[in-house]
Amino acid sequence: MTQKAESHVFQAEVQEVLSLVIHSLYTERDIFLRELLSNASDALDKLRFEALTHADWLPSGETLGIALQANPDARTLSIADNGIGMDHADLVSNLGRVASSGTRKFVEALKEAKSEGSPELIGRFGVGFYSSFMVADRVTVETRRAGSDEGWRWESDGKGEYTVEPAPGLARGTVITLHLKPVEDDDHDYTQEWTLRDIVSRYSDFVEYPIQMEVERSKPKLDDEGEPIEGEYETQRELETLNSMKPLWTRPKADITSEEYADFYRHHTHDWMPPLDTIHFKAEGTLEFTALLFLPAQRPMMMGEGQNPKSKLSLYVRRILVQRECEDLLPAWLRFVRGVVETSDLPLNVSRETMQNNRQVAQIRKGLVRKVLEAMGKLLKDDREKYEAFWKHFGWTFKEGLYFEHGDQQVAVAGLCLFEHSSESGWKTLAEYKEAMPEGQEAIYVLTGQDRATVEASAHLESMRRKGYDVLFLVDPVDEWVLERLTEFDGTPIRRLDQADLDLSSDADKDVLKKKQETASDLLKCLAASLGERVQEVRFTDRLAESPAVLVEAAGAMSAHQARMLRHAGQDIPEPKRILELNPDHALVQGLQKLHKADAQSPRIADFAELLFDGALLREGGAPQDPAKFQKLLTELMLASLK
Ligand code: ADP
Ligand code: MG
Repeated sequence: MTQKAESHVFQAEVQEVLSLVIHSLYTERDIFLRELLSNASDALDKLRFEALTHADWLPSGETLGIALQANPDARTLSIADNGIGMDHADLVSNLGRVASSGTRKFVEALKEAKSEGSPELIGRFGVGFYSSFMVADRVTVETRRAGSDEGWRWESDGKGEYTVEPAPGLARGTVITLHLKPVEDDDHDYTQEWTLRDIVSRYSDFVEYPIQMEVERSKPKLDDEGEPIEGEYETQRELETLNSMKPLWTRPKADITSEEYADFYRHHTHDWMPPLDTIHFKAEGTLEFTALLFLPAQRPMMMGEGQNPKSKLSLYVRRILVQRECEDLLPAWLRFVRGVVETSDLPLNVSRETMQNNRQVAQIRKGLVRKVLEAMGKLLKDDREKYEAFWKHFGWTFKEGLYFEHGDQQVAVAGLCLFEHSSESGWKTLAEYKEAMPEGQEAIYVLTGQDRATVEASAHLESMRRKGYDVLFLVDPVDEWVLERLTEFDGTPIRRLDQADLDLSSDADKDVLKKKQETASDLLKCLAASLGERVQEVRFTDRLAESPAVLVEAAGAMSAHQARMLRHAGQDIPEPKRILELNPDHALVQGLQKLHKADAQSPRIADFAELLFDGALLREGGAPQDPAKFQKLLTELMLASLK
């Protein structure tokens, strides 16, 4: 009895990918082979891994490999592997839906870019299996899963539907047959040996399994004794391995070209840019491991910044991939680093849970962090421009290290951080800032805020400008948390400008200020009373030059900026009580003093308190609590001045 083939419809997202692949992508078609070979290699990895616990799945003596077979007359190309294979459910879920995260990202990026299928995108993400429809108008997948007796045949023309039917008698593994489209103009002909050979060596040379193909070779004819006969040749078919198979990281550094590194990086990450920096080393000693790590040149479109972002390096144990996205090899603040780590000092069956408490893993992690920091330090020193480009993409991630690390490690991280600052555009390290401090400056001054424009316009900079001090701008969300832990650098304290206890003046100046404050104490109390719960105090300050007022935080209080960020993130944070500081030398403040002297009960005093407070709030990137009232007061004031 023969079972009829069942018909299935592709998931809508797949249809989207397919129609794009079929209709709009003409360049970069070669990568279909890279995708299929990488799937075959993954399937072999999986089998090798599963065979650790199911010895009978991989009979001893069997070699794992991939075979290409081209038939120019029939115009077919098949890619066969003796890997894990797929059962019925696998076929439907893996080849009928958008299973891989890579393809999902591709679809998202497409939606975002709204491009009509930019060919660039496909190279960027790779769309995995579906890219075979770039070159084929029909694809057949014959497969049998390890441990199962049932084989299956999947087939589709990529136009919305596919069929699945039983296929008896298949060997374990998967054979994908592409019925190639006719060759047009200057298309590559994927049935030609040299084309395939070229693509394999370009994209898949380091696949760890042999990629073999039967090739025709013209050889001298041999006589009965096995000696070549002069001038006589015959065509022989023989199997040839097209790839060098050596995982790149096991080869000596000196033999590897930057193109090879870049190809490996692209294969590993699906990034379309070459890496910014490559870190390749072998650690020897009590613990042996090899690492091939990369700093990407730019933040991937979607780095997968979820609630709890983690690092991800691929971990190999004795050539076997045991975790593709291992999060324990690097701390999360180095999650932009990509690459592979191989060791022979871990058991193959190391699980996620045991990884976390594994002493060797901790040791590897320490070594990797050191090397990454070293490489960054070298880049900072040797190629500032490159480092700054890197910093723009990943600095805010890296800075988390200042929060999570302590002691020497924190010092090492701090030394590699760049900050924007007030004296000019561009970036400075903490060391450079210190170096440029004028005589008498005793602290590193910093200001946080939502962006450069806001902090650059801050009233807090007035006193700094007067003194000729530079100020570091900390405008990444993580900076508020960083400042909780990073309180000094190389013996110099780090001080926030928006703190009430910032001490900038001489004793003589303080005396003068104190006197002014005493004279105005009734007014200041009156202002504080009318602002009520919003302020802890209203007082005079000498930190301002041009502005009438500024808000500062009481010592130890959460900064208003941080409170705003937390509230934005949905947390229930009460409004912090602020300190409103007034500039006693400002005409407005002096006018207020006059008004108060003339009529201490004037209702206008409360209005002015309101406007001073809200104005200072707006200036720092906040918003008035009662915008309607704010506008009403402002309107009245404007009307009064028009009279
Ligand atoms: P990805 O490789 O990123 O997961 P693909 O579209 O390339 O996405 O492949 C989808 C899925 O199909 C794979 O994850 C795998 O489960 C399955 N698959 C593809 N090719 C093979 C193969 N040769 N052997 C076994 N499974 C395969
Ligand atoms: Mg794939």
